Amino acid sequence: MAATLVVLAASLTACGADAGADPDDVETVIVTETAAAEPTDDMGGTPSMPTSAPTSEGPMAPYTGAVTPEELVEDLNGAVEITERFWEDHWTEFFTGTYTPPTVIGLYDGTDAASAPTCFDEPLPADNAFYCPDGDYVAWDQTLIARGFEVGDSWPYLVVAHEWGHAIQARLAMSLQADALELQADCLAGATLYGSAADGNLTFEDGDEKEIVNALNQLSDETAWTMSGDHGDSFQRIEAFNTGRSGGVVECLPRSKTKG
Ligand SMILES: [Zn+2]
Repeated sequence: MAATLVVLAASLTACGADAGADPDDVETVIVTETAAAEPTDDMGGTPSMPTSAPTSEGPMAPYTGAVTPEELVEDLNGAVEITERFWEDHWTEFFTGTYTPPTVIGLYDGTDAASAPTCFDEPLPADNAFYCPDGDYVAWDQTLIARGFEVGDSWPYLVVAHEWGHAIQARLAMSLQADALELQADCLAGATLYGSAADGNLTFEDGDEKEIVNALNQLSDETAWTMSGDHGDSFQRIEAFNTGRSGGVVECLPRSKTKG
């Protein structure tokens, strides 16, 4: 996956989805800041992808994959750029008020609690990614990102777009937040990535879509969604992502709630 933040109308490859949404179909909504009472959200169950790399010490050995730290940072920066650009460009098509991006803390080392960012006074743990309402920031652990490259370079795009989806939720009225917050974040991630492709800011390369499916599989819960905090099983996560992919942001909003 490659971020191509250029004004040129790049032709799309391997991307047949129309993520465009008709703004006329969207009901204008009131944007409210939610109270920062929600716990941090994360990417889901600890990915248990096979790895041949031994973990001699600590829970994980960072940067054991083929990716170099430079490549990793480059892809993350690309993911942040296109995600930020998408919401900057499209917010007013869906919502009232002015869009403000979350703070991007980005990579951190969760194996070192002393340096990890804190959320509600707790250091963020390793091997996950977060949107923290306390501070309105997004951050991702380097071990999670590095290990995700075993799935492919789509991984950081999915992680960033998903966590950004939580930041978007925090900017919405409660009525626009789905009960299944994690699945809604997956949906918003699909809307973001395919919307970015439609805008010409992101190019899907061969294998990217399969990588995303694999990533959602890896990050899914064993059981189906039942309550807030659940991420949903792999079918549900993929379905949610696809809803955003094909229907855009509007389809990620609770239908029954938006019509009230
Ligand atoms: Zn999440």
